[in-house]
Amino acid sequence: MRPERLNPLFAEVSTLPHVGPAAARALARLDIHLVKDLLFYLPVGWRHTRRVSGLANARVGERIAIAVRISGSEPARGRGPTRVLADDADHIGLVLAFFGPKGVHLARRFPTGATMVIAGKLESWNGRYQINHPEVMHDGATEAEPIYPLTEGLTSRRIAQLAAAALDRLPPFEEWIEPSLLAANRWPTFAEALRVAHQSADSSTAAAARDRLAHDELLASRLAWLLVRQRRRRQRGHPLAATGKLTGALLASLPWPLTGAQHRVFTEIAADLTTPHAMLRLLQGDVGSGKTLVAVLALLVAVEAGAQGVLVAPTDLLARQHFTTLSTLLAGLPVRLGFLSGREKGRQRDSTLRDLASGTIDILVGTHAVFMPGVTYHDLGLAVVDEQHRFGVAQRMMLTEKAEHPPHLLVMTATPIPRTLQLAHFGEMDVSRLDERPPGRQPVTTLVMPLTRLEEVIAALGRHLATGAQAYWVCPLLEAGADDSGDGSSAPTPAVVRAGMLRQHFGDQVALVHGRLAGTARDSEMNRFTSGAARLLVATTVIEVGVDVPDATLMIIESAERFGLAQLHQLRGRVGRGREHSTCILLRQSDLSEPGRQRLQMMRSSDDGFAIAEADLRLRGPGEMLGTRQSGDEGFHLASEEQISRLMDGADADARLLLDRDGGLQGRRGGAARLLLYLHERDAAVGTLRGG
Ligand code: ADP
Ligand code: MG
Repeated sequence: MRPERLNPLFAEVSTLPHVGPAAARALARLDIHLVKDLLFYLPVGWRHTRRVSGLANARVGERIAIAVRISGSEPARGRGPTRVLADDADHIGLVLAFFGPKGVHLARRFPTGATMVIAGKLESWNGRYQINHPEVMHDGATEAEPIYPLTEGLTSRRIAQLAAAALDRLPPFEEWIEPSLLAANRWPTFAEALRVAHQSADSSTAAAARDRLAHDELLASRLAWLLVRQRRRRQRGHPLAATGKLTGALLASLPWPLTGAQHRVFTEIAADLTTPHAMLRLLQGDVGSGKTLVAVLALLVAVEAGAQGVLVAPTDLLARQHFTTLSTLLAGLPVRLGFLSGREKGRQRDSTLRDLASGTIDILVGTHAVFMPGVTYHDLGLAVVDEQHRFGVAQRMMLTEKAEHPPHLLVMTATPIPRTLQLAHFGEMDVSRLDERPPGRQPVTTLVMPLTRLEEVIAALGRHLATGAQAYWVCPLLEAGADDSGDGSSAPTPAVVRAGMLRQHFGDQVALVHGRLAGTARDSEMNRFTSGAARLLVATTVIEVGVDVPDATLMIIESAERFGLAQLHQLRGRVGRGREHSTCILLRQSDLSEPGRQRLQMMRSSDDGFAIAEADLRLRGPGEMLGTRQSGDEGFHLASEEQISRLMDGADADARLLLDRDGGLQGRRGGAARLLLYLHERDAAVGTLRGG
């Protein structure tokens, strides 16, 4: 139960003065629901206004505040602005320009002869100083104002006022950071840090304040992870005794041997599974390195030991594909498979749940629905989670609830993750790497072509399909309103439109899947492609991870500059899976920026997922990519990636020290840290404590 002291911060924003339903709705669009959310919604920059005594001291282009005397006005001519004329103390003229039909009010706001202080960006026009739409400054106006990320219906000034009101609600807090760490970094207290972050334009004090707040967030994360681990240590795991019967039979049935890396990694995993402590292992392996087979072998160990296994994919599509893959691989073995996603309903779902609870199902394949309350296992020994960029405390706890003893956990990802981010997103895990690809995989030829050569590309696609091969055509996701500003020529064509156009050439050889297509329709389109009935799959990035159709040897990616490099690498990994040579064509818009060019060039010159991921970080221009910010369970609101990598080790040490001294968080600092966990919504971890 959350301590009452926090109630003022966990009240709805609508309890703040002057926040009506409209403002509350606008705030909700920024994900600000509670008073504490406002506290953690920090400015992204500051707007500075320099007070000058006269225009002679000002620079064109700078934002100034200046005292002037109004000397007259000029009515608007044609489409030009209405001009109010003013003089500074030295009688240098300044034009205050107002565009739009505002003339009437202006005479009242700027009466001739009045003196006032106005502010705005100084420009020069037709040999005269000019400020467009200046503001009239009132006494006590500040020279620096915070800038907040905004949505319609809110201004930065309004958010600053609301943040101030939220700051007034702060209850007193004891310090939760180790005092020596606080002193060494000269960090302010929590309350002071919030105040400075919202209200101080001084960049050096603000930097310290922001670091402290980022540290707090990382500390909460580390504490949560360590508490979960602490509890796990108290619990006995689920040792699985392998017989080698099923894994041996599977290996004997494969047309090729394991790669050296697959063999090594499976040995590591198998050793973990026999121990009485629950395994926590992260398996990193580039696209096509053969992670699925390693997962299947591990799941078979669980079945050999008489327990159950579960394989979880991030999307329904991938889960179904894994189900198909496993059905084929395990066809000759006495292993019973089940499938469960959010889409299963009614009788089908009931019978799956019954078979799972009775132990009739040995291996369940599905989406995260397999962890939901109401899904009961007979004896869950191992969970494998595929293509996951984070697996947070709350998810880990849900998994633990599924068995008397916490099951072993294997998380698989194709994304190389630096250690600090790994700590942030997965907690500590042992890491295995599949650093070798199965032999015989064809290198993929990558071409970059401008969209102006679309007809050529379609002709080449036609020749490709005529040979009997299959192909993908990937279109970027359209973010609502993202492209309505330009003339449309460089706007990406949504998958639906492109598919319509390609159908004019290739008829019903074309299958189409995209995010808005209903589940069953999407499945049947996907099936048409995987079964070979359709030859060309037009898709948004839903095919990004895991889809495996060896006959597809051509990949066309439209508006490739809009994708992250790691994403392009994943997409390209969908081809080059069969015997035939494969090609990937990156269609780009014609007027590409230099970094944009370099990024696509990187795709031509490298096939190494790790190198590409690094280049991606290096060459990533702001706003050049589709949103990559991840939200959800273990997301960080305050700590940037840079802060995570700089501050994570310190936060980790701080958390360990605290728990070494006070594992139950009962003391003074421990009690404060409990409040911190609530402030950062790590409630699940507090639940592991007595009296939590
Ligand atoms: P990923 O690591 O990207 O999930 P997959 O598990 O989908 O890769 O494997 C990619 C392809 O490689 C699959 O078609 C799979 O059957 C094949 N494969 C896996 N292991 C081997 C191996 N040892 N030798 C040859 N092919 C393999
Ligand atoms: Mg995979």
